[in-house]
Amino acid sequence: MDFKLTPEQEALKKELDDFLREEMKNAPPGWEAGMEAMFSDEGWPFHRYMARRLSEKGWLVRPWPREYGGVDAPMIEQVIFSEVMGYHRAPGRDIFGIGMIGPTLLVAGNEEQKKEHLPPIARAERFWCQGWSEPNAGSDLASLTTRAVRDGDDYIINGQKTWTSGAHFADWSFILARTNPEEKRSRGISFFLVDMKSPGVTVRPLLGMNGTHLFNEVYYDDVRVPARNRVGEENEGWAITRATMNFERSSIETVGVVKRELEELAAFCKETKWNGKTLSQNPFVRHRLAQLAIEIDVGRALAYRTAWLQEKGGLLLSADAASAAKVYGTELAQRLAYTGYQIMGLYGQVKMGSKWAPLHGSYESSSQLCMGMNLAGGSSEVQRNMIAWFGLGLPRTI
Ligand SMILES: Cc1cc2nc3c(=O)[nH]c(=O)nc-3n(C[C@H](O)[C@H](O)[C@H](O)COP(=O)(O)OP(=O)(O)OC[C@H]3O[C@@H](n4cnc5c(N)ncnc54)[C@H](O)[C@@H]3O)c2cc1C
Repeated sequence: MDFKLTPEQEALKKELDDFLREEMKNAPPGWEAGMEAMFSDEGWPFHRYMARRLSEKGWLVRPWPREYGGVDAPMIEQVIFSEVMGYHRAPGRDIFGIGMIGPTLLVAGNEEQKKEHLPPIARAERFWCQGWSEPNAGSDLASLTTRAVRDGDDYIINGQKTWTSGAHFADWSFILARTNPEEKRSRGISFFLVDMKSPGVTVRPLLGMNGTHLFNEVYYDDVRVPARNRVGEENEGWAITRATMNFERSSIETVGVVKRELEELAAFCKETKWNGKTLSQNPFVRHRLAQLAIEIDVGRALAYRTAWLQEKGGLLLSADAASAAKVYGTELAQRLAYTGYQIMGLYGQVKMGSKWAPLHGSYESSSQLCMGMNLAGGSSEVQRNMIAWFGLGLPRTI
């Protein structure tokens, strides 16, 4: 495996890096809080602004075909883009639009759906949310009960979704609903695209334990969705869902974020004294930081490998690779957050905005958010089940 980028890829990386270094000077305060900051009233306009700027530069969807807004670039360019974006903690890449539904439509949508939805995503005009989880269907997503009943040229949808990140700003949602109630579990589920402005869609905030508004409950009461907004065949949405999951799980952004945070933590340890010595002289600190540096290289290799497998078209074959990249990346972010927290002692708990908060208080927020990231997109236990099943050929237990 050759890890070296071509001179053109290096040039692209540098151009993007320079651009983000400049643009991120305009970020609103508290931007380090990541996903939560993006879906806040102050963060959302900046996210949209950055999305527009990145689109104008032609960076948002380079691997997509030209007719839908891309330039037919190799997948590696998307990986470079995501990694650099992560490193700068930069917003502007709609994780649901660009990261999930766009690639899903490219492999499973019909021509009309691609033409209707892909160009507005590429132009950063249409933002998406993911309506999958329900109050009684999380890890066991196939037990979902939201119903879609065919009525002429439409489906009528009734049900409740939960944990829908960013639904309070999204224009459209991709949701799963049961079209055949006789079938249990994954059979009998269909995949729909729903305009969030449709009559009958109600979005209610679900505040996090730290008071932030990231999640929502979304209620669907007799929502009419045109049948042309069903992706794939009726009752056969599950296979498409699995492709979307693999796109969701292979993001390299986390590794980029963690790399930046480790650099900042190392700099903090070099300049902060404790008992007359800098923290960087402490063997415990040195070994923990060195260990994290090794793990970042591992996480990066897993993410690049997943992208490479996906480029070869092995979406289902690469399920265990995508799960491995996801579980490793999010648990690495958690190890980094807890290491920083431990090194900073009680100062690590000081919130953003206080002069006593080291590194802008980012560890106070990341040590809370990292637990959720282990669950988002499928929990670590579920990912390990996938690796056992797809990767090792062990029997399915659920
Ligand atoms: C930050 C964040 C963002 C999210 N954004 C969205 C979103 O935008 N849209 C959306 O639809 N959903 C979203 N979710 C929901 C997410 O997909 C679910 O939280 C996740 O699938 C787990 O479901 P659950 O919360 O119901 O937990 P449960 O399924 O109830 O799981 C509880 C615990 O049991 C364990 N467990 C469950 N089944 C097994 C098993 N078979 N073997 C071993 N252990 C098991 C789990 O690992 C977990 O630790 C988000 C969640 C988070 C935390």
